[in-house]
Amino acid sequence: MNASPAAAVPRTRTPLEIDRARTPELMEAVRAYAVRILGGLDDRPAARAPVRPSPEPLPEAGIGLEEAMGVFAARWEPGFASGPGPRYLGFVTGGATPAALAGDWLTGTLDQNPTSGLDSLAPDLERETVTWLRDLFGLPPEHRGTFVSGATMSNLAGLAIAREWLGERRGVSVAEEGVVALGPVTVLSGSPHSSIAKALSVLGLGRSAIRHVGLLPGREAVDVGLLARELERLDGTPAIVVANAGTVNTVDFDDLRAIAALRERYPFWLHVDAAFGAFAALSAGHAHLVAGLGEADSVCVDLHKWLNVPYDSAVQFTRRRDLQTRVFQNAAAYLGPLGEDPEPDFVHLTPENSRRLRALPAWFTLAAYGREGHAGIVRDCVTLATDLGERIAAMPAYRLLAPVRLNVVCFTLTGSPSPARIAEVARAITESGEAFLTTTVLDGVPALRAAFSNWRTTGADVERIAKTLQEIASRP
Ligand SMILES: *Cc1c(COP(=O)(O)O)cnc(C)c1O
Repeated sequence: MNASPAAAVPRTRTPLEIDRARTPELMEAVRAYAVRILGGLDDRPAARAPVRPSPEPLPEAGIGLEEAMGVFAARWEPGFASGPGPRYLGFVTGGATPAALAGDWLTGTLDQNPTSGLDSLAPDLERETVTWLRDLFGLPPEHRGTFVSGATMSNLAGLAIAREWLGERRGVSVAEEGVVALGPVTVLSGSPHSSIAKALSVLGLGRSAIRHVGLLPGREAVDVGLLARELERLDGTPAIVVANAGTVNTVDFDDLRAIAALRERYPFWLHVDAAFGAFAALSAGHAHLVAGLGEADSVCVDLHKWLNVPYDSAVQFTRRRDLQTRVFQNAAAYLGPLGEDPEPDFVHLTPENSRRLRALPAWFTLAAYGREGHAGIVRDCVTLATDLGERIAAMPAYRLLAPVRLNVVCFTLTGSPSPARIAEVARAITESGEAFLTTTVLDGVPALRAAFSNWRTTGADVERIAKTLQEIASRP
């Protein structure tokens, strides 16, 4: 039989076919582009006031990687912030160490799904990495860790395990019977991060389950005496206590040891949100701030902040992996048995099933720089924050709202500035391109925060930021 005439007509190759043939040279071009971006982080404006381009329709045929990169470089990249750059001090935004970035590139390159151990060693690398992290933060071996996408997800997972524990105490399984079986729940906390309320909403416990406990005078740390009084009032009803190790405004720390000791008298699950405060454990001069962290039942630590790995990465630790698997188990014949496995597959431990090998950037940066390297990053950030705090305290236009306890400078204008005036200063800082700071309200006072968590930041950067602040305050 003759070949059909159609087969003889040469077909034009699709962009995907062309890119497949050109993959090595294209990847070299992407690498060169990424290296140019990295080289320019210092000079790129720290943040941008967004000017949105008009939307483009979905491409029908596509233009291939090389041209797509050109379009991205022209249309989008100039509007991106210098998030990994040295003077982006908004929120608590870390950068990415060279090794962490390399790990991130390779995560996509190898594209493993560490959900189960049926096909690769990837889950074992993840287990090794969480064990390293547990050691880094000085947690005892009873704590088992799992990677999640951020501190919000870590808080959510920790509180989901807490919810199951409350069920256990009341003789019901929330995982099986739902939150209706549980009845009302009380969550006690001094200065909980907004993500705690979000987690309670998602978990069906409700935002209003939070009872705010009084703080120490002039502080964001909980008054442990008042916490004991609230627990006493519960009259033996098990509760959840969310302790805070590093608040976002003034980096204040609850007395974790004293709170943990209350468990001798009252039944509660102790969840600690140590999103970035856990890194205090790396500095000999600050480790006392997180003394008692290991006594928690669940612990949240963010990694895309002070570990300086790219988004999105955090770790969730708990002592009760049995309850964790009860909540998150994803039993399906094709995924393999769960049983009483002491090392359950990750698919049974977090809200996600399939996901990226999120541990790889963390593994790379810990392998490359070790405990010492990362302790150095923490110490440097604390030194820089202290330096900026001292400079701001010396400027007549500004005043500090709290001592610099770790890596955040919380300050405001002297006098009683309106929220609009503070917003104006924040905008002027952004427009200068010299730095990016975020605003907050502390005890009713509108304020600015400068958070140091990037390995790239230097003393020269602090000097530039201080100069910018001085200049903006002196404008009429
Ligand atoms: C940043 C932060 C969170 C939320 O972290 P995401 O990574 O944005 O989800 C929660 N708690 C504290 C104390 C934080 O600093």
